[in-house]
Amino acid sequence: MILNISGRTRPCGLIGYPLEHTLSPKMHNTAFQHLGLDYVYIPFNVLPQDLERAVAGLRALGFVGFNVTHPHKENVVNYLDELDEGARLAGAVNTVVRQGDRLKGYNTDGAGFVRHLETEVGFAVKGKRVLVLGAGGAAKAVAVYLALAGAKEVIIANRTFEKARKLAEVISEKTPAGSNAVAWNPTGEEQVWEDGEALKEAVASADLVVQTTSLGMHPREDVCPSFPYEALGERHLVVDIIYNPPRTLFLQEAAKHGARVQNGMGMLLYQGAMAFELWTNRAAPLNVMRRVLP
Ligand code: NAP
Repeated sequence: MILNISGRTRPCGLIGYPLEHTLSPKMHNTAFQHLGLDYVYIPFNVLPQDLERAVAGLRALGFVGFNVTHPHKENVVNYLDELDEGARLAGAVNTVVRQGDRLKGYNTDGAGFVRHLETEVGFAVKGKRVLVLGAGGAAKAVAVYLALAGAKEVIIANRTFEKARKLAEVISEKTPAGSNAVAWNPTGEEQVWEDGEALKEAVASADLVVQTTSLGMHPREDVCPSFPYEALGERHLVVDIIYNPPRTLFLQEAAKHGARVQNGMGMLLYQGAMAFELWTNRAAPLNVMRRVLP
């Protein structure tokens, strides 16, 4: 790809570590070229101890905005001037936008997850019951944005119960959705889930189950979380936000029990599309961006 960079080119970027496998530069630069926008997207490997200086540098260099990925999504909030409501409640930012001299943080992981469900999967979140597996950074974004989009109830199940409890507390206190926490041990020797009945009940009453832990992700595709799969059925939509491999063992089990399944590629695409729109004020060329994804 030959880029026509000049003194007028508007820079965007990505900070994280390590970035070897990121798909974002290709997705954004292809979209800029397709629409003839004079923007460029550059990835920067930034170690945790350099985060503050890196953000100050991007600010000084006049970046239009930047994405933030592992391990900086939570710590970056300390160096921004303002946060969008969802990013504030999730306590995590994956997209920063320059507004005059100020840097505002957004969470398009959560917003993109919801937009993908509503526009492509045909799942309307309003009034639905959701079970989120995991309570890490991605879980916080997904759970908060589902609650803000009108889910009736968002139950959080996690190995470390305290993290699930804290997330459920934020949701029930700061959003209109009801919430609760359940202890879940997905790597027990047998079919062990610590709060078995509560988890089974949450599965039985859920319309949507979202798997947000890293269990089953490349290179450990052989890992299948212990889970009451038999409680799943045709009325469930099950999403695993992992996209490599495209069908985790978790999704394969869910599909065997009749559930409709989706992997994390839609979330990846839509978080990028929403960041693109925030930086350019143009509709993202979704199909062009989709074509560069594996
Ligand atoms: P994170 O903050 O480190 O959270 C990891 C989560 O997985 C926690 O809930 C953790 O439980 C759980 N977990 C990890 N290993 C476990 C084990 N052996 N047994 C039980 N639970 C375990 O990571 P993250 O940023 O949320 O990312 C999680 C996954 O989401 C990754 O696979 C990432 O690639 C994917 N993701 C996808 C997208 C997308 O666009 N599709 C975007 C963001 C992230 P504890 O709290 O008990 O440690």
